[in-house]
Amino acid sequence: MDDLKYGHRDKRGNWTPHKPAQPAPIWQRPFSLIKVLNWVPKYLWPWNAFHLFTALLWVLVLLPSWESLASFSFSNYAYLYILNAIGMFVFLGSFEFAYYIKRKQENRFKYNGKFPADYPSDVFWFKSQNIDNFLRSFFVTIPLWTLVEVFMLWAYANSWAVWLPWTTHWLWLSFVILISPAVHEVYFFLLHRLIHIPMLYKYIHSVHHNSINPSPWSSLSMHPGEGLPYMAEALLHLLIPSNPVCAYFTLHSIGFGAVNGHLGFEKLELSQNTALESHAYFHYLHHKYFDVNFGGDGVVPLDKLFGTWHDGTKEADELMKARFRRKKEQMQIKHKSN
Ligand SMILES: [Zn+2]
Ligand SMILES: [Zn+2]
Repeated sequence: MDDLKYGHRDKRGNWTPHKPAQPAPIWQRPFSLIKVLNWVPKYLWPWNAFHLFTALLWVLVLLPSWESLASFSFSNYAYLYILNAIGMFVFLGSFEFAYYIKRKQENRFKYNGKFPADYPSDVFWFKSQNIDNFLRSFFVTIPLWTLVEVFMLWAYANSWAVWLPWTTHWLWLSFVILISPAVHEVYFFLLHRLIHIPMLYKYIHSVHHNSINPSPWSSLSMHPGEGLPYMAEALLHLLIPSNPVCAYFTLHSIGFGAVNGHLGFEKLELSQNTALESHAYFHYLHHKYFDVNFGGDGVVPLDKLFGTWHDGTKEADELMKARFRRKKEQMQIKHKSN
């Protein structure tokens, strides 16, 4: 595919889409019903449909018996960890293998023209972004993901949470699944904003931000102080009338779905004429500029509300720089008055 039809490449090889990052059409003005109707299938397919599929696979096929989940056992924890680790290895590994190892589309549609494997850096374990990100994902965040999962299953198995059946409450449960990505954006924005407070950033979130040019393994490369509250979002289902399938939908959207912001490419070419939309641009800009785009893909664009929305354009760049200047001036004034 010709990526220059959709964007432009600068002298350094970095590709920028012509189309700026936009919030979901429900927030765009003037309101257009046609745009909203065109957006709905993209909201559902393929990413959210995939997370629903894996949620069903886990609950209906892969989970141990509910009797055994009613008490904590190391064998259940180990089994669930292995499932998550294999799932992530296959899912993220397939993107890594095709687009970063084989480099099947080279740097077409790639925001940052460089590949992390070509640039060893001291900030990473073994000087390698890939090894560092891989180890942190598999030995820090996925164990915490499994901890949240085991606790969630224990609560359901012991009836600590309201477990509604699909046969009688299918409408409510479908609604819960449909709004879960919107709830995720709000939860993620608040948590993310919090860990950008300088002290928390320094000790916790900076680990994730070491990857300025993120790649698939960067998705869950986190300090445990970030990984645990990040994965704990799935526990919100224990506070409302819900169902394990809905809870797994959230768990997998944040676990497997973290890859969306870290794919590094706007489109992943599948054939000569077809490509998968990555939805990665908005979070890529967060990794590039740090102090913008704390939310997700714009389903609930809180960054618009708080003035931190960066759509990738020069105008957004100017606004960001003006914000930094104001912040610096305020700090200088504060410093002098002290
Ligand atoms: Zn990230
Ligand atoms: Zn951040």
